[in-house]
Amino acid sequence: MSAQNVETTEGPAVIALGANLGDRRATLAAAVRAIADLPGVELTAVSSFIETPALKPHGVDTDAPAYLNGVATVLSALPPHALLDALNAIEHANGRVRDEHWGDRTLDLDLITFAELQQSDERLTLPHPRAAERDFVLRPWLEIQPDAVLPGRGRVDALLSALTGETPTEGAETGEGR
Ligand code: ATP
Ligand code: CA
Ligand code: CA
Ligand code: CA
Repeated sequence: MSAQNVETTEGPAVIALGANLGDRRATLAAAVRAIADLPGVELTAVSSFIETPALKPHGVDTDAPAYLNGVATVLSALPPHALLDALNAIEHANGRVRDEHWGDRTLDLDLITFAELQQSDERLTLPHPRAAERDFVLRPWLEIQPDAVLPGRGRVDALLSALTGETPTEGAETGEGR
């Protein structure tokens, strides 16, 4: 790695939480506690959790158990890869088994943003590459951070409006003609 290694960065981060197996609410509560308990990580906000149909590679799967999804914000002294490692360990501690792509799982913790970083390697892409298309990420994020910005993509309220066809509450951009 170069001397400009971005891994020295510390900062605010956004974590998406999802569960569609077992006692989803209990697992998500345990995950939030475990995140707060991480040394060097301070929990700053947790959204409410919303029910979302399962998304599979071929689209929405209403036969699969539905998800509970939410978002937490943290201040992390752990650099991005170390934070991802810690999130993976929390997934495993909560019974996560990795098998099929986008398969059902007890717990999924995705790192949505870390400060303003835009970077990608084989283990970690920031921001999370599919966050802008996910109502179940953007909506809870906006709930706890109304001025949120997805680095490289713009304001989260505008991204959510573009996704749902709703007019942004502050009416700055109507998206007319798109
Ligand atoms: P999706 O990424 O579309 O939400 P998923 O959460 O089901 O799908 P996983 O099987 O949990 O995908 O993770 C696949 C890989 O994604 C992991 O091995 C991880 O290293 C990598 N990854 C890359 N960027 C991120 C990120 N920002 N947050 C979490 N994992 C990431
Ligand atoms: Ca802590
Ligand atoms: Ca995910
Ligand atoms: Ca994941």
